[in-house]
Amino acid sequence: MKIELIKGDITKIEADAIVNAANSSLLGGGGVDVAIHRAGGVEILEECKEIRNRQGKCKTGEAVVTTGGNLPSKYVIHTVGPVWNDDEERCCGLLSNCYINSLKLAESLGIKTIAFPNISTGIYRFPKELAAQIAVNAVKNFQPETIEKAIFVCFDDENEMIYRKLID
Ligand code: ADP
Repeated sequence: MKIELIKGDITKIEADAIVNAANSSLLGGGGVDVAIHRAGGVEILEECKEIRNRQGKCKTGEAVVTTGGNLPSKYVIHTVGPVWNDDEERCCGLLSNCYINSLKLAESLGIKTIAFPNISTGIYRFPKELAAQIAVNAVKNFQPETIEKAIFVCFDDENEMIYRKLID
């Protein structure tokens, strides 16, 4: 799988799927979640509500999929990152699950390109360096069948620097 790094706004990315750092309610939070719902339109929230009615909240580390609505991407994969806390090992495992479960869901849809934000490194306060190592490892170790390219979309300078160092 090819790995790319882009600095910018994930809502502008043309990929088969972009990943949202959602919260377990699936009904909107802050940060990238707000940006995705704002740019993608009500259709995404409507589908999130349907998923909630069907299966309840989305557990940490798991992923669900909706349409991309008005976004340039066909799908949004919503995954729930862990809130950083004292149980560091558990947090690391859960963050890794976010990437792996998003990739698995993408494969089940036959997706070729997928773009990730830096899950949990905003409001959820996961240390950025550690989060980036987990993200890059999870993607590198994944054995893809349909996915050809994963894009890490870094919004802030610090994450961009960290990812640049890891990927180059
Ligand atoms: P979390 O609650 O998982 O920490 P946040 O949305 O607060 O989620 O932050 C996750 C990451 O997304 C942060 O690194 C933040 O800088 C980044 N981010 C915020 N807005 C955007 C956007 N429009 N495109 C890409 N990344 C974004």
